[in-house]
Amino acid sequence: MRIVLLGPPGAGKGTQAAKIIEEYSVPHISTGDIFRKNLKEGTPLGIKAKGYMDQGLLVPDELVVDLVKDRLLEEDCKDGFMLDGFPRTVLQAESLEEELTRLGQTLNAVININVDAELLFKRLTGRRICKSCGATYHVYFNPTKSEGICDKCGGELYQRDDDQEATVKKRLEVYQEQTQPLIDYYKNKGTLVDIDGVGEIDDVFSQISASLQERA
Ligand SMILES: [Zn+2]
Repeated sequence: MRIVLLGPPGAGKGTQAAKIIEEYSVPHISTGDIFRKNLKEGTPLGIKAKGYMDQGLLVPDELVVDLVKDRLLEEDCKDGFMLDGFPRTVLQAESLEEELTRLGQTLNAVININVDAELLFKRLTGRRICKSCGATYHVYFNPTKSEGICDKCGGELYQRDDDQEATVKKRLEVYQEQTQPLIDYYKNKGTLVDIDGVGEIDDVFSQISASLQERA
């Protein structure tokens, strides 16, 4: 099974990713992991990537593509994989397709987990953390008994900068802008599978596995 997994922040992508790799016994390929491994091992591609990162520059598309291609040639990807966080751009998607064609492979499905923007916003901005003991809460989904006060230790709760409304709004907008062309690309190819990401974890996963069954 060859899968690409897409979904905005807060859509539960990580949870579904874990279930997919377990069910289909495919490696979870994320660009973050690939970068870390290549940097750590000081591979030629890793050294190249580090050069950009040290200058505070984005690693260019072609280099990201080369790193992923290199990973897909490893033994554990022979019978399938799940890509997470790649491709991010249409250019990367085209390069992936070329490479898979060269290897005589095709993608089975591009799983796109959809959650309404309003709910994502609620999920992402509601988190609160205790200043004293680090316990985490959620103002909508896991509230404390008394507002702003930790149930466990009586400490004061705070909101992380990453969870602030303006930051979250920006993150969701950037995701939407970046990803829409990619979604359109895969829709045109007929590989896109839209999944309703609202609801219980197992219900969302049932939709995913039903669609993968059809495309096996
Ligand atoms: Zn506490």
